[in-house]
Amino acid sequence: MESTYRIKGATGDWEVVIGLEVHAQVTSNAKLFSGAATAFGAEPNSQVSLVDAAMPGMLPVPNRECIRQAVRTGLAIDAQINKWSRFDRKNYFYADLPQGYQISQLYHPLVGEGAIEIEDDDAVKTIGVERIHVEQDAGKLMHDQHPTRSYVDLNRSGVALMEIVSRPDMRSPAEAGAYLTKLRSILRYVGSCDGNMDQGSMRADVNVSVRKPGDELGTRTETKNVNSVRFVIAAIEHEAKRQVAVLEDGGAIQQETRLFNPDTGTTRSMRSKEDAHDYRYFPDPDLLPLELTDEFIDGIRATLPEMPDQKKARFVEQFGLKPYDAGVLAGDKASSDFFEQVAEGRDARVAANWVTGELFGALNKLGKDIDESPVSAEQLGELIDLISDNTISGRIAKDVFEIMLETGDAPGKIVEDKGLKQVTDTGAIEAIVDEILAANPEKVAEAKEKPKLAGWFVGQVMKASQGKANPAMVNEILAKKLGG
Ligand code: ADP
Ligand code: MG
Repeated sequence: MESTYRIKGATGDWEVVIGLEVHAQVTSNAKLFSGAATAFGAEPNSQVSLVDAAMPGMLPVPNRECIRQAVRTGLAIDAQINKWSRFDRKNYFYADLPQGYQISQLYHPLVGEGAIEIEDDDAVKTIGVERIHVEQDAGKLMHDQHPTRSYVDLNRSGVALMEIVSRPDMRSPAEAGAYLTKLRSILRYVGSCDGNMDQGSMRADVNVSVRKPGDELGTRTETKNVNSVRFVIAAIEHEAKRQVAVLEDGGAIQQETRLFNPDTGTTRSMRSKEDAHDYRYFPDPDLLPLELTDEFIDGIRATLPEMPDQKKARFVEQFGLKPYDAGVLAGDKASSDFFEQVAEGRDARVAANWVTGELFGALNKLGKDIDESPVSAEQLGELIDLISDNTISGRIAKDVFEIMLETGDAPGKIVEDKGLKQVTDTGAIEAIVDEILAANPEKVAEAKEKPKLAGWFVGQVMKASQGKANPAMVNEILAKKLGG
């Protein structure tokens, strides 16, 4: 990854150690142990079954689709799939948890050791994944000030989450950001989580400690529920500096749970950290252990799509893209699909330039995702065709692209309507050239001595033709006329 990240202190340099626990909402129409729906933004308490409301006597029934999604995710990161796993109860009291316990997996998770590769242009680093287990989400509390009242929305209660626990293998905020971005990309590729952090579908608990390089691991703090890559980076930067200041001051780090404040970019203490025994974990007697067959696992393996790393390698190999561009495109499934559609039957490098350059730039400005792009892949492809068959120049194409963004019109229609067709008629171009040469006799004399000055005439001719003259032909004709 990037060069070694260190925090300077009065007593020397400090190293930062980071481990992330990511909660990812499983893409599934129904909850982990009930048939209630899981749509985002529904009317409060409209998606709650008797199981989710913890009515006495209700029994949980595992949702096969949720298990399948977690196994898909495990296979996508080359993890050990445990054919025998079990659900445990994590007991605690809170108003958003009517059962009084969360069904989770502490002792025997569904997915064991795996790994995720993060990279810079040249260096690749492997971040270990300790486990992925499946668990229920809790409900949500809402508080009113006037009058003082609290409300419970149980729509999220019982929604399936995957908790993806990394090893403490990251050494800088940038590495943590790269890990999270890569993990989100993988989840979206396999379709096991939509990765929408702003809707809470993916959130990270950020574990941070500091130490002098070479020392044992330091005591960590855990900053809960950070919901964007940018905030994870900010939380780590703040927390690491805070810890260094405490330690250099002769203090000790308390193992505690902290909260991130996005407005100030700081963290504050929420509570001292519980240990597992505080939760009185025990196997859930309502649920049998999960036993997976080889057929079930192999069946899922057979349907795994091409993953981002493989796709990047293919883009470099098959299309000759630069590794950086290939990585940018392959990192996002929707972008890579869009690109491949544009590249189909065309010069792929030209297609990649348009997608990563003009299109991404425009989308960025508009604040839109690629699947909301005002220009379709088909239209962008058509625009590239108009350049390659000399209907328009690359310069004019950029103007046409701007109009496409605004109007959503097809490029052919825009070129037709606005009369932007490139002038390739030798006679017409020659006429413009002659006019300009005649108007500038001294410059002509100079240019005959210094051929480099011909560039000035190219500019004048292009301007006079409103950018429509074919630049290669302009060059050729000028060279002939000035060469003598
Ligand atoms: P818990 O379940 O109590 O949160 P775990 O031991 O399972 O604790 O670790 C949770 C996370 O904390 C993991 O992502 C792990 O990588 C990270 N972690 C553990 N020790 C440290 C440390 N000293 N510094 C930073 N992160 C750590
Ligand atoms: Mg934890």
